[in-house]
Amino acid sequence: MATPSGLDVSRDENAMKERNPSSSKPLSEHGERALLRDLRAQSASPEVAGPKLLVPIGDDGAVLAVPPGEAAVLTTDTLVEGTHFNRAWTAATDLGFKLVTSAASDIGAMGGRPLAAVIAVTAPAAMLAAELLDLMAGCREAAALFGLSVAGGDTTAGDRLVLTATILGGAPPAALLRRSGARIGDLLVVTGTLGEAGAGLQILRSLFEVDPPAGERWLRAGSPIDEIPVRLRAQGFDAALSLALQGAVRRFLRPTPPLAAGPALAAAGVTAGIDVSDGLASETAWIAAESDVGLALDATLIPIGRGAAAWGAKGGFDPLGLALQGGEDYELLLTVPPAAWPHLRARLAELQVTATAIGEVVPAREGVTLRTADGTRRPLPPGGYEHFRTPS
Ligand SMILES: [Mg+2]
Repeated sequence: MATPSGLDVSRDENAMKERNPSSSKPLSEHGERALLRDLRAQSASPEVAGPKLLVPIGDDGAVLAVPPGEAAVLTTDTLVEGTHFNRAWTAATDLGFKLVTSAASDIGAMGGRPLAAVIAVTAPAAMLAAELLDLMAGCREAAALFGLSVAGGDTTAGDRLVLTATILGGAPPAALLRRSGARIGDLLVVTGTLGEAGAGLQILRSLFEVDPPAGERWLRAGSPIDEIPVRLRAQGFDAALSLALQGAVRRFLRPTPPLAAGPALAAAGVTAGIDVSDGLASETAWIAAESDVGLALDATLIPIGRGAAAWGAKGGFDPLGLALQGGEDYELLLTVPPAAWPHLRARLAELQVTATAIGEVVPAREGVTLRTADGTRRPLPPGGYEHFRTPS
């Protein structure tokens, strides 16, 4: 994948493997010192896009300067094999990419920009050293795309793959955004489209669950994203539908949160924000609880992604359920006074981020409700409507 600096990361990876043929061994044979040497060689390549580290990888700790006048924002996120991802449909580079982007999404939701990440990996001894290097290459690919540095990490042995990304971000105090700032009368706004990642997970399960990882590898050798059109065509899907469904799978495996928007939100009038990691029903409940307000949503306004719509049409179910409880779309849910909404929408458009008003902030006693296409308004519990529960 091309990065903003124009470098082809995958070619760098291959070049590195040629220099270090022992990386095709399992971690148990490769050894920790060799792995550290490989990781340092990888981190010395020039695609690091974040702030320059005062002390890079290789010492007891990395050191970077937080920009003057900014507060440090810290967040951490863990992905567990068997819980958050399945070896049958997970490639190492995709997994690294998602690890960094899903954690960085929280920094954007706080109004900050990510500066640096440290990565902790618990890996089975049978995993190939090359897979771990690919995983880190995926982390670095996301880091390059979103302008942060991979500053270090730790590896330990375990019986399954567990990954943690801890991200340091920065924000001027005035730019910080919380879940607790929503005010009655504000509009409820969501960026991008929803339901795509939820559909992507279901598509992956339907197409790949049966495949065990090939040979000696711990994870899948190549990204399933590239195989989606062929597999769908074999099942009789037409080309346009296949593309839409492939887009949904890409959103699940390689989310691209609107991180550029984060630092601009508070200045554009946004009063509260959260990233959509667990589905709209869950995130609205958080905003309502933390801000002590109610929220009145209109289902017909919720922007459903093309892939989710296509997958729902194919399966004969309402894709709204994927938006409400599918999760992992990594868009932003925001509140903004009506007077500031046109300015916010224009500011986001400048940053190539679309946004849609989907409801409004109401008194807490009204709770969180959803008006459906038939005009009835019903409570929206954090887990979403049973009615919209999708086959999984
Ligand atoms: Mg979050």
